[in-house]
Amino acid sequence: MTENRLATDIFRLLADDTRVDILRALAVAQYERAQVGSGAAELGFSEIYDLVDVENTSKLSYHLGELTETYLRKSNDGYSLSHAGERIVRFILSGNYKQPESFGPETVDGVCVFCGEEALEAKLSHQFLRIDCTACEQQVTGQPITPAQVRTRDGESFVQSVKLRSAEDARQIRREMCPECGARLSAEVVSVPETPLPDADSLVVTSSCEECLREYNSPLTYSVVYHPASIAFHWDRGVDVAARGLWEFHQYVYEGRWTSEQTASDPNEYEVVLRHSGDAVRLYLDSTATVVGTERVRGASGEFSRS
Ligand SMILES: [Zn+2]
Ligand SMILES: [Zn+2]
Repeated sequence: MTENRLATDIFRLLADDTRVDILRALAVAQYERAQVGSGAAELGFSEIYDLVDVENTSKLSYHLGELTETYLRKSNDGYSLSHAGERIVRFILSGNYKQPESFGPETVDGVCVFCGEEALEAKLSHQFLRIDCTACEQQVTGQPITPAQVRTRDGESFVQSVKLRSAEDARQIRREMCPECGARLSAEVVSVPETPLPDADSLVVTSSCEECLREYNSPLTYSVVYHPASIAFHWDRGVDVAARGLWEFHQYVYEGRWTSEQTASDPNEYEVVLRHSGDAVRLYLDSTATVVGTERVRGASGEFSRS
């Protein structure tokens, strides 16, 4: 109850044009004035009074008082944005509260993980870039996007930006950091035998944020792709996995070149093998899907045929 009341109070503070204008004025001042490395812009009372349309100084003083602590920080030199002030004002300025522009359907690279066809098509569905297989009509992936991400790019660079963000998020998630709120994640590996994915990938790592309640799920094979050992292994073979989207890895799973298995229990241990050009990198994982060891294997091609 208390938490809810606090949240509604915090949003009520913003239900006023002058207050939103104050936050904007601080963001604009920071953008226009800040030298490299100068830190957060601070505006004095009279500077804010010049920038914001407000009847008189006592009104301004009242609004600043209301915003301070939650959205503003006050020091001897003036006012600057707090963490919440930054988040809110960037959200307003970027227009990310609007509906995204439409996109697609557009053909994208990659193979369907269900049927193996190269028939993937991307389009926007609400706040997700959704990729479907036109051959078997199943959804292959859905990646979150922002309206500003769509608005500022054309088709190809938009799809590239979705790959980049999913790769960056995956790296943070594997390091136990919630990309959404920055809190620490807890992770566990679960076996999902009824998964529609190929047998090789019934192990799924699920990471949960107990602060913002976001949950991230990934097949165990994909969870290690952005580990430095995998990035280096693939880079040596001409593949930049760090620039690839998750759906572009389906081919490897489908062909049985990427596999995962449980190798011990109590405590659980796992092993993922990523094969490429006859060689392989093997990654050893503990019960929280943390990579605890890696090894390269030469001439691993014999293992990689999939029935
Ligand atoms: Zn398909
Ligand atoms: Zn979180």
